[in-house]
Amino acid sequence: MSAADPSPRGDSAAAGQFDVVVIGGGPAGYPAAIRAAQNKLKVACIDEWKNRDGSYAFGGTCLNAGCIPSKALLESSELYHRAQHEFAVHGIKLSSVALDLAAMQKRRAGIVKTMTGGITALFKANGVTAYQGHGRLVAPGQVEVTGGDGARKLLGARHVILASGSMPVQLKSVPQDGQFIVDSWNALEFDAVPPRLGVIGAGVIGLELGSVWRRLGSDVTVIEALDSFLPMADQAVAKEALKHFKKLGLNITLGAKVSDAAVRDGAVAVNYTNAQGEHSLVVDKLVVAVGRCPFTDGLFAPGVGVTLDARGFIEVDEHCHTKVPNVWAVGDVVRGPMLAHKGKEEGVMVADLIAGLYGEVNYKTIPSVIYTAPEIAWVGQTEEQAKASGRPLKIGSFPFTASGRARAMEASSGFCKVVAAADDDEILGVHIIGPMAGELIAEAVLAMEYSASAEDIQRTIHAHPTLSEALHEAALAADKRAIDSINR
Ligand code: FAD
Ligand code: NAD
Repeated sequence: MSAADPSPRGDSAAAGQFDVVVIGGGPAGYPAAIRAAQNKLKVACIDEWKNRDGSYAFGGTCLNAGCIPSKALLESSELYHRAQHEFAVHGIKLSSVALDLAAMQKRRAGIVKTMTGGITALFKANGVTAYQGHGRLVAPGQVEVTGGDGARKLLGARHVILASGSMPVQLKSVPQDGQFIVDSWNALEFDAVPPRLGVIGAGVIGLELGSVWRRLGSDVTVIEALDSFLPMADQAVAKEALKHFKKLGLNITLGAKVSDAAVRDGAVAVNYTNAQGEHSLVVDKLVVAVGRCPFTDGLFAPGVGVTLDARGFIEVDEHCHTKVPNVWAVGDVVRGPMLAHKGKEEGVMVADLIAGLYGEVNYKTIPSVIYTAPEIAWVGQTEEQAKASGRPLKIGSFPFTASGRARAMEASSGFCKVVAAADDDEILGVHIIGPMAGELIAEAVLAMEYSASAEDIQRTIHAHPTLSEALHEAALAADKRAIDSINR
């Protein structure tokens, strides 16, 4: 067991029996452990994440290699880009702007360390027993923990929550070596800006990491298999986004199938085909970002009764209960979008259900955010999905060019769009591309959670001048009553 193996509640014998044992301390597992402890249950959380230096860290993919480090670099690289391209418009003259990538990366690593350390502190404060090592459900009610030194310990558990997360999908024809052909974790930790960067996959990771390195000076080519761009987003938003990525200089090739890639003479040769024929590309680094798959290696003994679907996800019902009584599974390892906030809500729901309290996740109101510039965020149905449902619709859109605050911020690209039902005025979806879209979407999520109508948003007072007025105006525009833009 690792040194961080405290037993804050009682002696070691008592520490062997728990009400709840959570396997996985990422954004699905650690909130489950904390909420279960808040519910006065005796809780342990086991996590095996190890960083490059061999140190254990709670927080899973999100804190160590995903959401947090990527957002740190997105922020830094965006400032660098704005200093170069935008400050002059504000009347700020800089004689030169230089990149100190080592300092940027040090800041990123520091934020990760503080945040992951924060989970250890939260566990202590809530009385969660933390184990750092491998957890395995050996039988219903029994979890084995294997520490870094190989020592094993058996924990009794009334309930077990599996929160083992996901790992990047690998392509057989593009073998990763961790140096030239890499995954997203490696791509967050480059110590030099690759002059030429290739990215396979124009999904969320491809666009976020492609933006980071493009802003820092890389010549970036993104190779996407599908013919359509951001098919999961509202297509008006996707169209607007593609325009901005092109303007940034991301070279995005759609409908392209990578046949192979290999490291040669310190560079990567990539071959792909598209409608125009066969192509080859040479880059200094190649990032494979073609999705993630559930991770269940060594998680449970065969025959324990936990089942996987055809894609490897643990099968659960709408309350995240597996087929085994008192065994639950949450986060990326179960169906649904692979998002930290989705996993968190599932973890909290399960911890409340175990305690006999009410618990529910409203899967219809999970927001999606892509943290590029402009930011992209949405909740609910796209216009295309709503149209396909056959329900009569009304659509309201408001451009950030008409927002005084966006103009003042020099960030007037994009728009906010409300998709509402024409019959009963229900808000079916909200789609934003523009400044702080990821923050603005929260109001739409709350509105939909409360089953608000477009009129409810119309009658809600929004401070002026704020970006949030864009949602107000878009809701008004759905009834052709926008004040600050022309109703179409
Ligand atoms: P994980 O975070 O993967 O955590 C699972 C943990 O369980 C890991 O620590 C793992 O080591 C541990 N574990 C697994 N098996 C065992 C075992 N048998 N014993 C002990 N421990 C075990 N999502 C967002 O919502 N917003 C974002 O901005 C965002 N950005 C991202 C950027 C990148 C580059 C990546 C890769 C992902 C991003 N995601 C983002 C997705 C997000 O990281 C995941 O959805 C989230 O981490 C899933 O949480 P989880 O707890 O289910 O799994
Ligand atoms: P993704 O599913 O978002 O995108 C993968 C892309 O790769 C898709 O467009 C797919 O068509 C393409 N692709 C698949 N196989 C290909 C191939 N052989 N050649 C070319 N293209 C191919 O997955 P991701 O970007 O790897 O992200 C993984 C997960 O992490 C996602 O589920 C995402 O939700 C999550 N994530 C979220 C955020 C965020 O919330 N801001 C940020 C990063 C990651």
